[in-house]
Amino acid sequence: MSSDCLFCKIAAGDIPATICYQDDYLVVFEDINPQAPTHLLLIPRKHIATTLDLTAEDNTLVGHIFQTAAKIATQLGFADEGFRIVNNCNQAGGQTVWHLHFHLLGQRQLTWPPG
Ligand code: 5GP
Ligand code: ZN
Repeated sequence: MSSDCLFCKIAAGDIPATICYQDDYLVVFEDINPQAPTHLLLIPRKHIATTLDLTAEDNTLVGHIFQTAAKIATQLGFADEGFRIVNNCNQAGGQTVWHLHFHLLGQRQLTWPPG
């Protein structure tokens, strides 16, 4: 837990969010500024600032996050039509919150390249 981190506070329940799923390792909640009909953020409970800060001990955690995203897409019924998982890293990558997170975007036609 990083005391000045927005997503650590959401994971701890100190700042409200619409939480869809949580377990011992991760929390999934709705993005406050959705870019698709489904726009969820998946975060580890552990404070990891960026993708660059991942270590080998986080491999299981990241796999768990991706499997959870896939399960949620299946449960919400848009897995077969398709969806996107996005991780933005540092300023030029579009990162605005320095606690590792993965965007799960679904239920609209997504374009490529991204904006
Ligand atoms: P990034 O730009 O770092 O990849 O994504 C950060 C995301 O967090 C953005 O999509 C933004 O809308 C979302 N966000 C920022 N502040 C809050 C908040 O207080 N609550 C929720 N639920 N989402 C937030
Ligand atoms: Zn944090």
